[in-house]
Formats: sequence, C-alpha cells, structure tokens
Amino acid sequence: AAAAEKELESPVKAPVEVKHTKLLINGEFVDSVSGKTFATYDPRSEELIAHVAEGDAKDIDLAVKAARKAFDEGPWPKMTAYERVKILNRYADLLEKHNDELGALDSIDSGKPYDQARYAEMPQVVRNFRYFAGWADKIHGHTIPSDSAHFAYTLHEPVGVCGQIIPWNFPLVMYAWKVAPALACGNTIVLKTAEQTPLSALLAGALALEAGIPPGVLNIVSGYGETAGAALSSHMDVDKVAFTGSTEVGKKIMVAAAQSNLKKVTLELGGKSPFIICDGADVDQAVELSHFALFFNQGQCCCAGSRTFVHENVYDEYLEKAKERALKRIVGDPFRSGVEQGPQVDKEQFNKVLSYIESGKEQGARLITGGTRLGSKGFYIKPTVFADVQDHHTIFNEEIFGPVQAVTKFSSTQEVIKRANRTEYGLAAGIFSKNIDEINTLSRGLRAGTVWVNTYDIFDASIPFGGYKQSGIGREKGIYALENYTQVKAVVMPLHNPAW
Ligand code: NAD
Repeated sequence: AAAAEKELESPVKAPVEVKHTKLLINGEFVDSVSGKTFATYDPRSEELIAHVAEGDAKDIDLAVKAARKAFDEGPWPKMTAYERVKILNRYADLLEKHNDELGALDSIDSGKPYDQARYAEMPQVVRNFRYFAGWADKIHGHTIPSDSAHFAYTLHEPVGVCGQIIPWNFPLVMYAWKVAPALACGNTIVLKTAEQTPLSALLAGALALEAGIPPGVLNIVSGYGETAGAALSSHMDVDKVAFTGSTEVGKKIMVAAAQSNLKKVTLELGGKSPFIICDGADVDQAVELSHFALFFNQGQCCCAGSRTFVHENVYDEYLEKAKERALKRIVGDPFRSGVEQGPQVDKEQFNKVLSYIESGKEQGARLITGGTRLGSKGFYIKPTVFADVQDHHTIFNEEIFGPVQAVTKFSSTQEVIKRANRTEYGLAAGIFSKNIDEINTLSRGLRAGTVWVNTYDIFDASIPFGGYKQSGIGREKGIYALENYTQVKAVVMPLHNPAW
C-alpha cells in the first residue's frame, strides 16, 4: 500500500522547530571557529531544514581542551557517584519530557517514521540513561588474595576524555548508547554527530546542561567525518574513541588511534546478518518477522536481517507471502500516522541502494517485487524482494542499507550454518524455528554477536550488542559497556611492613 505518489509531493508540516544549530563546547552554544556552516536536508522534499555550524579540527581541539579540563579539574569524575546518579536520572526525566520534540527532530532529519522515533526509539533512549544511572554508584573493583604477603585491590577508574562518533540511522539511540555509559563511569566526552543528522543531539545537549551536567563534560561538535571525525580519532589528548558506522571507516579510526596516541578503541560496524527460517516454521509468522528484520528503519540497520535463508520445504509458500507483505508495506510521509517506511536518509544512500538493486538484476537474482523509486520527489524506494539469490551475488555479500530483501533456499542445518557464516561480518543472526535441537545447533554454530530466536531487533538496555569478525570490537549496553569506559588500576601494598 504505497502512498499515492501525489501525496509524497506535498510533505506534511513537521511539528517541530529547530532551536539549536551551533556547536556545544564547554557548556555554551558557539559558532565554529571558521564561521562555516553546512546544510541539513529534509529527505522527504530534498529541501533545506537548517544551516548548522560546521566544526573541524580547530573546534574539535577546543572541545577536547574543555573535556580535558572538566576531567582533570572535576567536579564530574570526582563527585560522589550518587551525585552522578541523581544528575543522570534528572537528565532521563528531561529527555522523556521532550520525547515529542526529540522524536520529531530525528524524523525530519533522517526520514524515519515519527511514530517509530517517538514511541519505539525515544523510550529506549530514556531507558538507557536510567539504566546506566543505576550503574553509576555500583562500579567497583575487587580485593585480591595475592600469593606473597601483599594486600592488593583494584579500582575501576574512568578512562578520561572519550571521543564518540555516531551515524545517522538512529541518531538519538546511538547518542544514548554512547553518552550514557561514558557519563555514568565518570568520563568526559566530545561527541561528533553524523553530518546527515546533526539536529537532535544538539537539543539533547541543551537538556544535559539543564539537568546539571557541568560545562565541558559533554561537548557536541557537528561536522564531517574526514575533518571533524578524523581530528577526533587522531587527537593526542583523547583517551578513547568509540565509533559506530561503516567497517571501512572503522578501520580508519583504528589506524588513526594507532598512529596518534594508542587511544582505546571500540567499534560497532556493518553487518550482513542471516535470518534463517527452518523446516516446519509457521510461514505467516516467519514472513512477518523476517520482513520486519529487513525493512525496519527503511532497511538502514547495521543488524538488518539482510540474507533471508528459507528451508526448501517452505520456500515457495514463503516467497509468495513475502511478496504480498512487501506490497502491503505502507510507504509514505513519516509524519503521517500508520506509515511504516519513509524515505532513505539522503541522495547518496538513495542512489547507492538503487545501484545495488541494478546489480541484483544484472547478476541474475529474480526480482519479485519493487525495484524502483517511489514517486518523483524525496528519497522513497519501493520495498524490494529478490528471490533465488546466490551466494556470490553482490547483494548477498555487501551491506545494502536499504529496503531490499535477498532470499535464498537451503536444505540442511549444517549447510545453512556454513553459508550463513561465509561473510566478513558477524553482527547478528535470526532463527525462526520450533525445533529446540535445531535452535541450539544454530545458536552455537552461528558466528555473530547477537542471535535472536523467534524474535528480532530486541534492544533492551541490559543486553550487550556488538560484533564478531569485522562487525566490530567491544560490546555496548549492559554490564559489558562499563568495560569500555573504565580502566583498572591495581593498588598493591605489603600486609606486614618489616620495618615496623
Ligand atoms: P560512515 O561510516 O561514513 O559514517 C559514520 C560516522 O563516521 C559519521 O559521523 C561520519 O561523519 C564519520 N566519519 C566518516 N569518515 C570518517 C573518518 N575518516 N574519520 C572519522 N570519522 C569519520 O557511514 P556513511 O557514509 O554514513 O554510510 C556508509 C555505509 O556505512 C552505509 O551504507 C552502511 O552500510 C554503513 N553504516 C553502518 C551503520 C551502523 O550502524 N553500523 C550506520 C551508518 C552507516
């Protein structure tokens, strides 16, 4: 049920006003040193939303200086943990109070359905801050029975100044995954947002000040990757860099960290996650879940279930119903209620997805629905399904990051494990089965950081998320995230000093 193409030509007026477009450095909203700005566009109309201050190396340097001062001189890392708990909870309350506005900013800037941003993502953002506020006063080390007559204990101390670089697909959720654990552990931050979606983090930054997070603790620099992002990852006075985005850029981050000051690195990168539908599966349910696993967020998820493996016994029925479901997907203006899919984030991604569709056709995958843009304005793409995709096809190996499902047939559990693992990625996997033995064999056999069984895209704040292989290093969320933002100090002293 694609929206009438006519309807897409006159976008709904977005229920939000852009209030913050400057950089947040040392507790103040400031212009960039160069005075430059860049434009952020509405992907529904391809029209300007706002000009935003464009930070580069000079602004990153100012932000790092502010974060360094806030770390070295306090009060943030030095205040009682309970004080930080109270401030972070106050911050969560303020984010919750501004749910509508924050959700609308993400929706207009990225094209995602407003209902999804407001009712699925914002609760997760708020929950992340409350979850990590809960950890802030429970971070502690061990006492250690050493072999010699020494008393030893460990302190889990903050790492220092953290550089954080986030992508455009889930602007505020990525903000929360990065900022909440870093602050809970007592670090200070310089965050660089994605150039496609700078708006929501700036409002979130203003709310952080209102909540009582001291100046310099959280600095936000909008700007491009090759300038601001590169300056942050190679800065000599940044102690740690956390990045989410493409594997290609993740490698550059690691090189920059190694060639500068060996700052600690955590990476959350791309994926080509398998979704496996076993023999005997309820096909209607399998279709619904695998459709969601791929098409959610316009297909722009690092963990999208982008290789659908279907057992030969249910393959034909699956294809027929998957096509029907894709045709029913409601594509339209993200601010209209009931819309499931909005436009892709920008022209570059839109063209990239369309070129992957062309490569699928050229290489001989069978297009069963979609395959073209929708309308003539905005970056809308019809939900697309390819059948009979083969392992060597480009659309089966590279991250498309769009509403393009690639379906293939398999015959045995061992075969599907081998084929599912034949990728440089290892972010997530989905299993749809009622057979417990098969579920156990697959969950142990798949090389992925998350295995969702009979569900998909569950992102509780307490469950770790991250990649095997080239999908990343480290785990975000849950107790595991604390390791990214603390370092261990061993303190050792003799039990009996012979001099006394
Ligand atoms: P990207 O990796 O280029 O951008 C992610 C972030 O990194 C942005 O903030 C960007 O400004 C920054 N960046 C870019 N180059 C940098 C550099 N040299 N040094 C430091 N920071 C830099 O992603 P993209 O270009 O927006 O998208 C390209 C592809 O990446 C997508 O098609 C998709 O396959 C993948 N992607 C993955 C995720 C994810 O969640 N894993 C998110 C977005 C995009």
